[in-house]
Amino acid sequence: MDTDAGRSLYDLKFDEIEALLKEWGEPVFRAKQIWEWLYVQLAAACDAMTNLPQPLRDRLGAAYPLGRLTPRIDLLSSDGWTRKILFALPDRAQIETVLMEYDTRNTVCVSTQAGCAMGCTFCATGQGGFQRNLTSGEIVEQVLFFERELRAANVHAKRPASNHQITNVVLMGMGEPFANYIALLDALKRLSDPSGYNFGARRITVSTVGLVPMIERFTQERSQVNLAVSLHAATDELRASMLPINKRYPLDVLIPACRAYTEITRRRISFEWAMIEGVNDTPAQARALAQWIKGMLCHVNLIPLNPTHGYSGAASTRERIAAFRAILDEARLPNSLRVRRGIDIHAGCGQLRQAANRER
Ligand code: SAH
Ligand code: SF4
Repeated sequence: MDTDAGRSLYDLKFDEIEALLKEWGEPVFRAKQIWEWLYVQLAAACDAMTNLPQPLRDRLGAAYPLGRLTPRIDLLSSDGWTRKILFALPDRAQIETVLMEYDTRNTVCVSTQAGCAMGCTFCATGQGGFQRNLTSGEIVEQVLFFERELRAANVHAKRPASNHQITNVVLMGMGEPFANYIALLDALKRLSDPSGYNFGARRITVSTVGLVPMIERFTQERSQVNLAVSLHAATDELRASMLPINKRYPLDVLIPACRAYTEITRRRISFEWAMIEGVNDTPAQARALAQWIKGMLCHVNLIPLNPTHGYSGAASTRERIAAFRAILDEARLPNSLRVRRGIDIHAGCGQLRQAANRER
């Protein structure tokens, strides 16, 4: 049978493409041609693979159609620097992908699941529940979609077309990446494959809510991909009230796993902290945080809360953020305040889908 449960060519590993060609009685060298069309030329359809015989193009297109992401809503922030797309998948699940342009960087924020089962109270994705895991191809295609668009927009730029337009990839869109571990790792491997898209693993960051067994597993991968952990609170009671997963993996299990990651890999870990007025922005929380992570090779990323429909908290004031940071500085903990982007286009995780569904 030619069709494979609705998979696209972007779901196949190189040796799976080779096996498919063998099965079809095609020369195996075509696998390399197809791979280059997919990950170097960024073909949007099998029909564009002009060095393949037409019957093979047709057969591939029918069995493993490309372009599983259909843009449904495409928004540009008022300052023009943030673009957010709500994609429909073939089964009508919806995901969000965000492109953030900076002076010298283009960061794409990618989803790993349609929805999320972790139920963090302040997160729009968590408020909407879980639909399904994305396939590795659906994860990869989000990056390539924007790469393709940026290349098309920059055809007259001096940079050669082979240079990446996307400079950073963050797995911080919808979903919990470590709850979709196999597809995630396949996607990361495919994005950084030297004979394909060849994207530097050091420019990729995976963010997890704190699934400890998966942090331990990821530690063993010895991957160059950066790791971020969503901490948001430094006492179990508060963290469990915001992130239900803390009941399963409390801080005295999570923090040692993070410390072990830094010691075994010698790589810096990032801690994410959404600043919520009067909730987790107190001096007591800052001191508790410093206690947990002092001496660790780490960086604390503070992000003012993006307000969501299902959560009444507000972003911390500038003064409270400054006071919080002063305590971290005193404890010699590197920290930074992330600028909020695209508030006017619901650019926070899961917010566009929430808004789109509310308007129906
Ligand atoms: N599931 C993963 C990755 C996706 S969420 C995780 O939780 O880490 C990406 C980041 O956005 C996480 O740090 C998450 O806690 C944060 N986040 C979610 N909702 C937010 C909101 N309303 N305001 C600010 N940060 C938010
Ligand atoms: Fe899921 Fe991350 Fe949102 Fe929590 S913050 S509900 S883990 S996407």
